[in-house]
Amino acid sequence: MTAPLYSRVLLKLSGEALMGDGQYGVDRDVVRRMAREIKDVVDSGVQVAIVIGGGNIFRGMAKAAEGMDRATADYMGMLATVMNALAVQDALEHLGLPTRVLSALHIEQVAEPYIRRRAIRHLEKGRVVIFGAGTGNPFFTTDTAASLRAVEINAQLVLKGTKVDGVYTDDPVTHPEAMRYRELSYNQVLEQNLQVMDATAITLCRDNDMPIIVFSINKSGALMRVMLGEEEGTSVRR
Ligand code: UDP
Repeated sequence: MTAPLYSRVLLKLSGEALMGDGQYGVDRDVVRRMAREIKDVVDSGVQVAIVIGGGNIFRGMAKAAEGMDRATADYMGMLATVMNALAVQDALEHLGLPTRVLSALHIEQVAEPYIRRRAIRHLEKGRVVIFGAGTGNPFFTTDTAASLRAVEINAQLVLKGTKVDGVYTDDPVTHPEAMRYRELSYNQVLEQNLQVMDATAITLCRDNDMPIIVFSINKSGALMRVMLGEEEGTSVRR
């Protein structure tokens, strides 16, 4: 069997990916299916760290638009990501994978505090590390947390799991003629304002030469195919 191209990767899962076809919260079946995809990758010898979003529960910016203090709303958003992190941890542990949730906010009864060296140690021991609470700072996103943690832990790749299998010239749902980009540069993403990750996250990846692959988290086996270097999704690199 072909060996994976990577030894350590950072997987970004949005909160919305966890809710499946629902409008809110976590769909257990969806999370279980994702956990199985992650297990295949871990079993192939790849160290996997995960950053979880919180948009399925709470989004700071949306609440700020309704008049809430932005920083307060963002802290609520970060707490939402911790809930999602626990849901993913539970699903992974049901499959027998050892995991640790590391939170950027101190919630010691439920998660270890984020300490960079500890995160790396967990990965070296074969544990899946789930980063909760984003960067720990308001006015940021979990996309930026994904870029930041990927750089910090010396990951070789950021995997951005979305509902569609890459970045398209237009919305493929409403425009069936839309074409998928196979490869993009960081600057193309920024200049054309393509919906890959927010600009702060892209800039951080660009400045640290961290490649990103956007792929479908709903497509069975796609995550493993990316690991094997097969043509999948859209890759963003220099
Ligand atoms: N958030 C934050 N700082 C961070 C990461 C997240 O304040 O470093 C808050 C922010 O309010 C955001 C919410 O947490 O709206 C949920 O994260 P995000 O929107 O990135 O989740 P996703 O879109 O990936 O589900």
